[in-house]
Amino acid sequence: MSNYDQLTAHYQTISHFNHAQSMLGWDAAANMPAGGNDARSKAMAELSVHVHRLSTQPQLGEWFDKAQQELLSTEQQSSLREMKRQWQQATIVPEDLVQAQSIAGSKCEHAWRSQRPANDWEGFEKNWKEVVKLSREEAKIRSEALGSTPYDAMLDKFEPGTTTASLDTLFSDVKTWLPELIEKALDKQNSQSIIMPSGTFSTANQKALGVETMKLLKFDFDHGRLDQSVHPFCGGVPSDVRITTRYDEKDFVQALMGIVHETGHARYEQGLPKAFAGLPVGEARSMGVHESQSLFFEMQIGRSKPFISHLSQLSANAFNAHQDPVFAEENLYKIYTQVEKGFIRVDADELTYPAHVIMRYEIERDLINGVIEHTDVPALWDEKMKASLGLSTKGNYQNGCMQDIHWTDGAFGYFPSYTLGAMYAAQYKATMQQTVDIDGAIKSGDLSPIFKWLSDNIWSQASLHTTDDLIKRATGETLNAAHFRKHLETRYL
Ligand SMILES: [Zn+2]
Repeated sequence: MSNYDQLTAHYQTISHFNHAQSMLGWDAAANMPAGGNDARSKAMAELSVHVHRLSTQPQLGEWFDKAQQELLSTEQQSSLREMKRQWQQATIVPEDLVQAQSIAGSKCEHAWRSQRPANDWEGFEKNWKEVVKLSREEAKIRSEALGSTPYDAMLDKFEPGTTTASLDTLFSDVKTWLPELIEKALDKQNSQSIIMPSGTFSTANQKALGVETMKLLKFDFDHGRLDQSVHPFCGGVPSDVRITTRYDEKDFVQALMGIVHETGHARYEQGLPKAFAGLPVGEARSMGVHESQSLFFEMQIGRSKPFISHLSQLSANAFNAHQDPVFAEENLYKIYTQVEKGFIRVDADELTYPAHVIMRYEIERDLINGVIEHTDVPALWDEKMKASLGLSTKGNYQNGCMQDIHWTDGAFGYFPSYTLGAMYAAQYKATMQQTVDIDGAIKSGDLSPIFKWLSDNIWSQASLHTTDDLIKRATGETLNAAHFRKHLETRYL
């Protein structure tokens, strides 16, 4: 057996344990009675330890060195690169630091749940201080191994290849035109009247509507399913993808578009190449590319006029309300493209969302690089929020820097993925429309030409190429914010 084959077999084994882990996680979120939590947590922790041991086995280093000398095809070289990357990610950070981070993160997050509603920054700050300190230690260790700045080393966990330099260029471009575009869109929408849903929309009817919408988006129900959970997610494994949503019986709007979003994540997973199943090279490229698929489904397809025309019919059918003006095409389109300045990122619309992401990026970049201290964050948040959306968060911590869960457990470097994803999605569309009649396909109800493009250019490519190469091969250029701007201007002006 060659060293390359040995590595392949080893990573297949790891993927089987990850499969089990993922299904236990889905079950815990979607099905498990509360009393099962204690034993389930222990079982999942045990599995994590086992996977970590497999991922850091001492002989792997030697196998990688020897496999590098073997005669490998181009695809095998990519496969080796991705296995090695996962191995390095797993071994860079010493185990005692990982453990300390896990304890500090859980403690901070647990207390945050009651501190946020109480607007208790002082209490939060005491726990968060430790989380930030440990994340900086992690960033320092990673940056020494990678030869980069501390924050770039954290970015590498979620967006391999993306750097502060490239993000600064992209985001400073967005900052020059976004505030004015938001104002213009608000002006334009000022006079429009919207009829918001009222009444009761049963969970059963909403689920049936969700399933019909997933069928339109060609979700493969032989290899996946839809369930409910408190926090919607896409989990499982490519051959069995589990997506979830959360229903509000007073309003179907959010859950429906949430399902469209998660279906985008799911179709990427379902479309990954079978030939590389269980191997790192067969996995999704990055968090940003994953988000580019969910956001392509949600923003480029889901909120387009022809798709909303389908949603109008499907929802009127599901709730048996054909005369209700809420479900009229024009009205639904207004609902799904309404712009509003708000404090909360997760409630933000497509147009104001990047403003939320960019300010978090600037703050976490400086925090991890040691340019600012954690106690500077509330004032900076207030300053940036005023500059980008004209809202003050002075003294309003719960709707300011304490609103997101990401920082409480030290997930620094993750936020940029959201806006990168939105930008990639707009760029795919700009290229796709040169060869595909996108609106025509959506109108006809057969969206296969769109999915074929995504499959050929993104899904089937998995992690064979670096992100820059993937985007260049698909669109002829690396990420360019101009496409995102054009998309937003076309939709909102
Ligand atoms: Zn997503």
